[in-house]
Amino acid sequence: MDTTIVRNSFREKFGTSGVLYFSPGRINLIGEHTDYNGGYVLPGAIDKGILTEITPNTSDRVRVYSLDLNDYVEFGLDEKDKPSASWAHYIFGVCREMIKRGARPHGFDAVFSGNVPLGAGLSSSAALESTFAFALNDLFDYDFDKKELVLIGQKTEHNYCGVNCGIMDQFASIFGKEGNLVRLDCSTMEYEYIPFNPLGYKLVLVDSVTKHELVDSPYNKRRQSCERAAAAITVNHPHVKLLGNADLEMLKEVKKLISEEDYMRAQYAIQENTRLINTCEALKQGDYQTVGRNLYATHHGMSKLYEVSTIELDFLNDTAKACGVTGSRMMGGGFGGCTINLVAEDKYDLFIDTAINRFKDKFGKEPKIYPVKISQGARRLNE
Ligand code: ADP
Ligand code: MG
Repeated sequence: MDTTIVRNSFREKFGTSGVLYFSPGRINLIGEHTDYNGGYVLPGAIDKGILTEITPNTSDRVRVYSLDLNDYVEFGLDEKDKPSASWAHYIFGVCREMIKRGARPHGFDAVFSGNVPLGAGLSSSAALESTFAFALNDLFDYDFDKKELVLIGQKTEHNYCGVNCGIMDQFASIFGKEGNLVRLDCSTMEYEYIPFNPLGYKLVLVDSVTKHELVDSPYNKRRQSCERAAAAITVNHPHVKLLGNADLEMLKEVKKLISEEDYMRAQYAIQENTRLINTCEALKQGDYQTVGRNLYATHHGMSKLYEVSTIELDFLNDTAKACGVTGSRMMGGGFGGCTINLVAEDKYDLFIDTAINRFKDKFGKEPKIYPVKISQGARRLNE
């Protein structure tokens, strides 16, 4: 990211200079709808994020410019009402969540800019929260540990942005490590770094530029299906409370006791967690062919068993397969967003051209292309 634009703008607006901080957006390689089933997710921080320059001021007020939206917001740290601009809710929320946890309020001036596409499923909002949470913690020596910074970001979304998210996005943004994915248990916050060095491959997202509204209700229905299946399994296997601890044999035992639909949902959830664990093993071996096959299998499961795909996402997945892409799947909860693709370098141009042209022919709009690299999480930039 270009630090010069932020630096110049900061000097112009505040007549001084500050410290630069950066936090990234994220991808999730595999492990979708596994979090609420007690399984793992496998996110990684990307080379796109939010960059801010920031300096303490002598007041109890916060003054922030959003360069990308060309907007300015000022608020007092003792104010209870959030500012009207929605982008500022993330920063206001981080401040309030920190104060709630005992941080001594301190005013600051900031300018920020980002290159995570907004609302595409790469979590620009977590990048924004994490940048400010990390920066304020460092600038004012607040002494929050990294897990607390994750929770501060998550609670900001819950309490100030009306988004009832889990911890994956903030965790990846704060804990991300170059050349590694994070295998995370969302319920315990236990994690392990898994090497990700796909030499000879590129990782690229293709945005279907379609988003279906009202995804809450299908999401809740999936969740309830999984809970019913888990409850049926628990009768014979009391140690199994969630599908993340079940296997397909256990599911088969209750086949006649649950609906066909619940069975399909549970089958996906169990297989997906197994696939994630298998993918981590393959990554440790550097076996990207297996990783790729697992991505296709996840797409198939999400489309045919969990039924959260769209015609656009299925089309992009089929296109990837036709172009010989090593692995491809829809990413995120479903009903829109991007596919994530692991592409051998010599197939990259062909795939991108084909995906753009075929998609445009079929749906009358151009998909967006976001190449990403797995990169370092939240950090202070030394320059
Ligand atoms: P995402 O999936 O990208 O996290 P969200 O809807 O959760 O999508 O968050 C997007 C919101 O985050 C934007 O509407 C805006 O308020 C804020 N945001 C993200 N990036 C920026 C940016 N570069 N500048 C200003 N606000 C941003
Ligand atoms: Mg978000």
